[in-house]
Amino acid sequence: MLGLAKKTFRNGIHPPEHKDDTSQLAIRHFPFAPLLLIPLQQHIGKAASCVVRENQEISRGQLLGKPNGFMSTAIHSPAEGIVKRIGLMPSMQGKMVEGIYLQTFSGSTQEIGCGEPCGLDASPEEILNAIQQAGIVGLGGAAFPTHAKLKAPAGKTIDTLLINGAECEPYLTTDHRVMLEQYQDIFVGIRYLLKVTGAQQAIIGIEENKQNAADILRQHLPRDLPAKIAMVGTKYPQGAEKMLINVLLGRIVPCGAHSVDVHVAGVNVATCAEIGRLLPLGQGIQERVITIGGSGIIKKGNYRIPIGTPLRFLLETVGVADDISTVFLGGPMMGQAIGNLDIPITKGTSGVIAFTQQQYRKRPEKIYPCIHCGRCLDACPMMLIPSQLGLLARNEQFTTMAEHFHLNECFECGACSFVCPSHIPLVQLFRIAKNSIKKQAKERH
Ligand code: SF4
Ligand code: SF4
Repeated sequence: MLGLAKKTFRNGIHPPEHKDDTSQLAIRHFPFAPLLLIPLQQHIGKAASCVVRENQEISRGQLLGKPNGFMSTAIHSPAEGIVKRIGLMPSMQGKMVEGIYLQTFSGSTQEIGCGEPCGLDASPEEILNAIQQAGIVGLGGAAFPTHAKLKAPAGKTIDTLLINGAECEPYLTTDHRVMLEQYQDIFVGIRYLLKVTGAQQAIIGIEENKQNAADILRQHLPRDLPAKIAMVGTKYPQGAEKMLINVLLGRIVPCGAHSVDVHVAGVNVATCAEIGRLLPLGQGIQERVITIGGSGIIKKGNYRIPIGTPLRFLLETVGVADDISTVFLGGPMMGQAIGNLDIPITKGTSGVIAFTQQQYRKRPEKIYPCIHCGRCLDACPMMLIPSQLGLLARNEQFTTMAEHFHLNECFECGACSFVCPSHIPLVQLFRIAKNSIKKQAKERH
């Protein structure tokens, strides 16, 4: 029996949604860029091992990189073309990464399978393997290899599959459109995922601002599928998995624990749709749906775009305003402002949002001292003390932050920074602190 404990979580914020510009627009295909930049690492874990060579002709859908161990996934070609170069290329993280420069042939449309189709009669292990070979990662932005997320550690069990259709990030409407247009893929994906996880039920969690998506899913829900559609309040960051689990199941994921520790497997709704779409065909991810929007974009919309499309080509294709100022990969809350337009779209890119100078309210240069107003405490969904963490970060007391103030529980939602009247860049300080702790740990080993 599904117990709906409450409709939303404690704290959180209500940033302007800005979804109306694109939520009504059907998904369109994006053209192929003349040169695609395809990183071998588009996921958390180890980069894929390159299986092609320079000057080799490539078919669309052909395997370019095979998984390098369990925490790795495959990479496939988004287009027909020729490998111009294998070497370093810019990435969203600011560092150069190894990848494949693919010069595309014009009019590339032909598709091939990457392997054997995987039917619903396959065993859970075979399905997990097919998900890894299809290169499927969390398309909500995390890019965590999906097969690794689904494999419950020994001794742990999953009773509920949580399909995350909350999409709480402002501007982004990709999951919304996928739910409206690919509901059959979602249902097939759920069947695979129920088999893999052993869960007895699936819940599709959707924010109230996407009522039409819930309606269409309810209308077409197969009678024999043990799945329910559950609405949750519209609040940021409702789409964070821990928030959704708490709201829909009344379970609290303890500090340092994961969803599986409360018997839940969480999968983004677009990831679920790709599993349902690709596994029966034996194909890998070659493209993904992204929202291109913001006041700086002329042809706003949701596009199915080839992986590896450079940002520069993307912006030239959709057209930009004369006074474009800032471009984000992902949404403005959890995404990243980008300075280098040669960065490609990867599997983890859920949106490209560009602002005009007029619209983008740049943070004032001046940062004021903390006035102890407590707004950041009221905003933090993880019940952390961002003001105290901010103070410690500025004093470089990173270890104290981690050991006494649960820095690792911060998932960088940015709600605290958003509400701070003193313009303290709290989330940026926390990112610096986490990176510094990681670096120190690496140096020790
Ligand atoms: S960024 Fe971290 S500290 Fe700030 S509100 Fe989000 S979870 Fe809390
Ligand atoms: S919101 Fe800003 S000013 Fe207010 S307590 Fe937090 S850090 Fe201090």
